[in-house]
Amino acid sequence: MRNIFIAGNWKMHKTSKEAEALVKAIIPASHNADGKKKVMIAPPFTALYVVNTVIKGTNLMLGAQNMGPEEKGAHTGEISIGMLMDVGVSVVILGHSERRHVYQENDELINRKVKLALKHKMEIILCVGETLDERESGATNKVVEEQLKRGLNGVSEEQLSKVTIAYEPVWAIGTGKTATPQDADDTHSFIRDFLSSLYSSALADELVIQYGGSVKPHNAGELMNMSNIDGVLVGGASLIAEDFIKIINYE
Ligand code: PEP
Repeated sequence: MRNIFIAGNWKMHKTSKEAEALVKAIIPASHNADGKKKVMIAPPFTALYVVNTVIKGTNLMLGAQNMGPEEKGAHTGEISIGMLMDVGVSVVILGHSERRHVYQENDELINRKVKLALKHKMEIILCVGETLDERESGATNKVVEEQLKRGLNGVSEEQLSKVTIAYEPVWAIGTGKTATPQDADDTHSFIRDFLSSLYSSALADELVIQYGGSVKPHNAGELMNMSNIDGVLVGGASLIAEDFIKIINYE
């Protein structure tokens, strides 16, 4: 039986004060979270410290939205893995489509971050997904396969237990358009099959695959009830406590 993993990505929203209020509203809903049902929030970097102090002793996990590919040094504007660990981050989102398409991060750069995070035993959520043009030309599986192959290059079987994959079709992020549960499940099933060819079917069976792209309270349940969808990565709806709580308690 695979774990369930519900994650919220706050993107470039919320000051420290606003973040503190939002996380306080979410904490009660995370009380049922445990090793089997994980709940994570990824505030902006500037709010990580305060959110970490508020969630101490709860089951909420603290995530970061990105990190730099180097340990430390002259890298103006970057945030290092050590800095994230210092403020209690235990999961980092890598390869989000906004990083890939707006900030031109390629698979090689993402892979450097993946390996650095795993070297430090940090959990990662590796995001993959196709654009609308790629979907319409029938290239979804090919695109996702390349992103997985390159993104996970050099990641060992042992390290795979720290990896969650988020399938996020680019055309569904922040647009209100969602993949149908069946379409999403088909791609999740493809991802699992591909990872069983890279690793083993036992490891691929255990791997948590989240769906992301306009997940809202009204569609979380039908997505989560698909056999290959083990969690959701939520953007917009994670900024509204009531909506995110409904998603955590999906039926
Ligand atoms: C995301 O940021 O990963 C995301 C899926 O956003 P939204 O839920 O707003 O589409």
